[in-house]
Amino acid sequence: MPQIQRRRAVSVKVGSVKVGSDAPVVVQSMTNTDTADVESSIQQIAALARAGSELVRVTVNNDAAAKAVPYIVDGIRAKGWETPIIGDFHYNGHQLLRNYPDCARALAKYRINPGNVSIGRKDDDNFRTMIEVAVEYQKPVRIGVNWGSLDQALLTKMMDENSKSANPLPARDVMMEAMVVSALDNAAAAERYGLRRDQIVLSAKVSGVRDLIDVYTELASRCDYALHLGLTEAGMGMKGVVASTAGLSPLLLAGIGDTIRVSLTPTPSGDRSEEVRCAQQILQSLSIRSFMPQVTSCPGCGRTTSTYFQELAERIQNYLVEQMPEWKKQYAGVEELKLAVMGCVVNGPGESKHANIGISLPGTFEEPKAPVYVDGKLFTTLKGDRIVEEFQLILDEYVEKRYGHVLIGA
Ligand code: SF4
Repeated sequence: MPQIQRRRAVSVKVGSVKVGSDAPVVVQSMTNTDTADVESSIQQIAALARAGSELVRVTVNNDAAAKAVPYIVDGIRAKGWETPIIGDFHYNGHQLLRNYPDCARALAKYRINPGNVSIGRKDDDNFRTMIEVAVEYQKPVRIGVNWGSLDQALLTKMMDENSKSANPLPARDVMMEAMVVSALDNAAAAERYGLRRDQIVLSAKVSGVRDLIDVYTELASRCDYALHLGLTEAGMGMKGVVASTAGLSPLLLAGIGDTIRVSLTPTPSGDRSEEVRCAQQILQSLSIRSFMPQVTSCPGCGRTTSTYFQELAERIQNYLVEQMPEWKKQYAGVEELKLAVMGCVVNGPGESKHANIGISLPGTFEEPKAPVYVDGKLFTTLKGDRIVEEFQLILDEYVEKRYGHVLIGA
């Protein structure tokens, strides 16, 4: 498979995690707990980290949240997670970072939204204060432009200039340019106030897929800062997953993007870690990074009228999710494992042979037996009502045999 030519961004250290340059594309997420609720925040950050989030952002929106941050970081470390915690600041970040030095020290990075940090002011003193705190504590900063809170003074100025030009651009193009200009101007200001280039990450998030691709393509061509990618307010369920994938994939394939987040709206009782798994799946589907054994399964059709193979595919998928936190510690490389669960003889054996382990279940009117292939060869044929358990056993034995001898970190 041809290598993706990564855009070579300046490398940024975010706590223990390297972002940019030749580092792998980093997966990050954000909590939706009340940051002031220390225990709930610790629980959710731990769940996100367990799911594989390599950076976790929390909102720091008021005094109570700022006071809570050091306790949250301590709590996470006490649970054994080194995951860097990033503070998300809007409006009052300059006050919170100055008034709560323990918070400023505990965070691994600050996210600053230049569109709302100095609202109603003619100077950029608030922005400057935040950068000065970052310089004082030697913390990197993400300058995160968002089109929902784009600097209105800048946008108005650019719209006015555009309307007076001989060949005015469509308003949408001016808006995209304003996003890029806002990010770059604020990065330049941050450097003037003492931040180094290797302490700056940029993002320019929009909620439209085509807009996202255009704005990041432009931003990437005009700087070498590390870039954080994400489709903002991606939405719920399938819409959010598909739109994020459609937006992030062309950029990642073009080598653009050093960290990513998938901003899914969870259902009220939904699992926040879904956004982590979705980001991982995007990277793994593009063969950029591997996180989890992949299960190839067919959609089923009239040749398989029972739901048995769907249930098997689901059980195996769930089993992998359950096992991976432990397997990752014991079996280096297990995330590269490929499985196939197929519904009938048409594509079953063929697809199974391409996988490390594959099972071809019997379709309607086929003999009730399920050949299992291991590394391309027929290994055994399962029958009866314990096919799932027996297949799981074959999987466990394969993982132990194939990856058990590999030393983690070797
Ligand atoms: S493998 Fe068989 S059951 Fe699955 S989609 Fe193809 S023909 Fe249908």
